[in-house]
Amino acid sequence: MATPWPRPRVVVSACLGFEAVRYDGSLIPDEFVAALRAHVDFVPICPEFALGLGSPRPPVRLVESEGEVRLVQPGTGRDLTEAMAEFAGRFATSVGDIDGFILKNRSPTCGVKDARVYAPNEGGPRRRQPGLFAAAMAKAFPDLPMEDEGRLTNRELRANFLTRVFASARLRDVRTFGELVDLHTRYKFVLLAHNPRRARELGRGLAGARSLPWHDALAEYRRMFMATLQHPPTLGRFADVAAHLYGFVADHLSAEERAHFRAALAAYRRRALPAEAILTLLRSWAVRFRVEYLSAQTLFEPYPPELESLSTSARG
Ligand code: SF4
Repeated sequence: MATPWPRPRVVVSACLGFEAVRYDGSLIPDEFVAALRAHVDFVPICPEFALGLGSPRPPVRLVESEGEVRLVQPGTGRDLTEAMAEFAGRFATSVGDIDGFILKNRSPTCGVKDARVYAPNEGGPRRRQPGLFAAAMAKAFPDLPMEDEGRLTNRELRANFLTRVFASARLRDVRTFGELVDLHTRYKFVLLAHNPRRARELGRGLAGARSLPWHDALAEYRRMFMATLQHPPTLGRFADVAAHLYGFVADHLSAEERAHFRAALAAYRRRALPAEAILTLLRSWAVRFRVEYLSAQTLFEPYPPELESLSTSARG
């Protein structure tokens, strides 16, 4: 992949190591977020602090009453639902170009999926849903990756998040139709691994985009490109892509090397070998046989390799 790497702009919950803005006056250092600082321009935001609630502050929570979920501060009796919606709307229109979100899990404001929703009369939580700020951002930026720091300890989720964030940033650097075609060519197998049907539609859309005004063509391509990456790669799709890539070098290989690859791919399909092992094999052959089209594929390095080996407490 061409260098230098773009620097994605990522919105992050400010309490994840940036500012002591939590309800109890604390902050939560996060190893992954800290490591990303060398590669990413973060936009830290604490929506509750931005509403003037201060830190420390009486905690807020989501309460469901008569079918409606409200953001309330039981300690003061304040209902912050409208104020949070207004703030989120202002933030979405003023934040500028961004490539993704890392938000604090379980928060009634920032939680991506798992904010607790309570009944009005105290008692335990009824269910979980996104926090109000996270929900507003997901609606305003439907194609951008959004994760919480808890889910990002999973190796596969983290890799998928980074792939999408860096893809979005790369796309923002595209200035001409020729650069767009080049990006599409390099991302071909990333796209196929995520969603082959949408990847093919994207290729057809690109062919027809030359007749459109440049900014319309780029906006439509970006929408379809990011939507394609929303679908996480599956084991079967990745194996299909690997077999396709193998076709570019198979004729150069000895019978033993071909047998070795078939055995490795079968092991991958049984989950006995990671995808990285297959990619390393294919990449080494692409370099050895100087198959430049193959060497240039982003699938081999969708984000800075230093981020691959982050020593976070990966569960995946
Ligand atoms: S979770 Fe969100 S609202 Fe809560 S302290 Fe962190 S940034 Fe602020």
